[in-house]
Amino acid sequence: MHARRTGEGLGVSVAALLPLLAVLLLQWGCRDGGVAPPPPRPPNIVLYIVDTLRSDGLASYGNPSASTPHFDRLAAEGVVFENAYANASWTRASIATIVTGLYPSRHLAERRADSLPDEVETLSEVLLRNGYTTGLITTNPNAGRHFGFDVGFDSMIELYRRNKPGRVHSFELITASDRVTDRAMEWIGAVPEPFFLTIVSVDPHAPYRPPERFDRAAGAYTGSADGSFEHIDRPDLDATDRRRIRALYDAEVSFNDDSFGALLAHLDELGIRDDTIVALTSDHGEEFWEIKGRRGHGRSLSEAVTRVPLVVRYPRGGRVPAGKRVAAPVELADVVPTILDLAALPVPAGLDGRALFSGEPDPARAVYASLDLDGYRIRSLRKGPWKLLWYEPMNRFELFRLDEPGGEERPIPQNAGPQARRARSELKRELAAIVARDAARVEAPEGQPEAVPADVEDAMRALGYIE
Ligand SMILES: [Zn+2]
Repeated sequence: MHARRTGEGLGVSVAALLPLLAVLLLQWGCRDGGVAPPPPRPPNIVLYIVDTLRSDGLASYGNPSASTPHFDRLAAEGVVFENAYANASWTRASIATIVTGLYPSRHLAERRADSLPDEVETLSEVLLRNGYTTGLITTNPNAGRHFGFDVGFDSMIELYRRNKPGRVHSFELITASDRVTDRAMEWIGAVPEPFFLTIVSVDPHAPYRPPERFDRAAGAYTGSADGSFEHIDRPDLDATDRRRIRALYDAEVSFNDDSFGALLAHLDELGIRDDTIVALTSDHGEEFWEIKGRRGHGRSLSEAVTRVPLVVRYPRGGRVPAGKRVAAPVELADVVPTILDLAALPVPAGLDGRALFSGEPDPARAVYASLDLDGYRIRSLRKGPWKLLWYEPMNRFELFRLDEPGGEERPIPQNAGPQARRARSELKRELAAIVARDAARVEAPEGQPEAVPADVEDAMRALGYIE
C-alpha cells in the first residue's frame, strides 16, 4: 500500500479546521471570483542517473537506430536539454557534481582516492532538512557509502555486495537495472511523501553484457569480439568488431530503458506521475574510438564523454512544458539548483550551476569540465563552436573548432586568424576566472583514505576501475 499523504488519520476533525479554511479561502479568493489555486504541495523527486549514457544513445537525442521508447517518452512529456554536459568524465567526480551543484575542484571528490567531504552540502541533505524522505539506490560503489555518498539519506541501498559466501564471478557483482527498479518500487511503496529517490544504474557501463532479448543485432555478427574487458580493448578489432561492440552497448542502453519504463509505469499506477519531478541524466558518456583510438571514459574531456542526456519532467508544476527542447548549453552542476527551484526551496548561494527553469537559457553560455585522474589533469571550456583544453601539468592550451568536420581532432594553430585568436584569449580569461574560484572551496582536512572494503574493491574490479 502506497503511503500517500492525506488528511486521513491525522486525528483532526474537519470542524476544527473550519476557521483555518475560512482564513485560507479569504487569502486565496481571486478578485474576479475565479477558483483559487490549490495550496502548493512539495513534489516527489526521482533523480535517475544512468551510468555511462552518451546523449546519442537515445532516439530523442537524434539517434534513429536507438531503441529507447521509455527514455523518449520522458523526453516527450518533459523538457529535453539537447546540449547538456557533464562537468567530469568519470563516475565519482561527476556524480559528486550532480548531487552538490559544485565543480569537481570545489567538491573535492575528484581523484581516485577522494571521498565527498562532510563539509560539502548535498541535495539529499537539503531535502531531508525540508521534510523529505530520502533514499539512494546505487549499483556503482563510486557513488556509495565508502566514498561519502550516503550523507543525507534515510535509506542507502547498495547493490553490489556479495550475497553468498564462496567464489562469485565478477559479473555477479554488477546489478542490472531491472533489479534496481524492483528495489525502487519497494522503497517508494514503503515511505511517506514527499520522497526523494536517487538511482544510479550501471547497465551501459562496460563490460557490455545485455540480456539476449535486447541484443537485436546478435545474429548478423560472425566475428569473435564480445563485450568483456578482454575483448573491447583488443588492438586488433576491425570496423565490424567495433560496430558489434557499440551495438552491445546500445543493447545495454535499451535494457536500462526498459527497466526505467517499468519505474515510470509504477509512478503512473500510484497516481503520482504529475506530482513527481523526474530528472534523467548520466554521469558521463563513453568513447568509441572517435578520437585517438580511445574507448571508455575518464581519460579525456571529449564530446563523446562529456555530452549526456538531461531530461526533466514535472507535469504539475506548470513550469516544465511537455515536449519543449532547449538548445542552449547546460551543465550537470545545474541539477541541484534546478531541482530545488522546482520544489520551491531556496537555492544555496555559491553553487556553480544555475536553476534552468528560472529565466531564459543563455545560448552563449560557456560550459566547463575537468579531469584529475591517473595522471590526466585537464580542464576545458566550451563556448559556441569553440572548445579550449588546458593540460595543466604542461600549462599547454589547445583550441578546437567543433562545427568543422574533424574539428575535435585538430587543434587550431596559434597563428590562426583573428577570430580564433579572440576566441582563445576569451576562453582563457573565462577559464582563469573559474579556476580562481577554487580558492573559495570548502577546506576539507587532508586525511589518509580508508582502506577499501573487499566487497567494494571486488565490485570496482568488475566495472574495470581496478585492473
Ligand atoms: Zn560512471
